[in-house]
Amino acid sequence: MFKITSLLCALVLLLAGWTGCSKANPPASGGSGESATYSCPMHPDVTRSSPGQCPKCGMDLERR
Ligand SMILES: [Zn+2]
Repeated sequence: MFKITSLLCALVLLLAGWTGCSKANPPASGGSGESATYSCPMHPDVTRSSPGQCPKCGMDLERR
């Protein structure tokens, strides 16, 4: 029983990390000159190269 629970937990974590990563990753098409990074104040791992909303909580991304 414990094994199944821990396995499920790991799977959920993996899925959450995977979807969060694929959403947070901006299209790699550098060359605009500007190197501004926008990140969520609540989720520092969420970064975008353009302004927008956090896919996890919907907050406006802050420039840094
Ligand atoms: Zn967020």
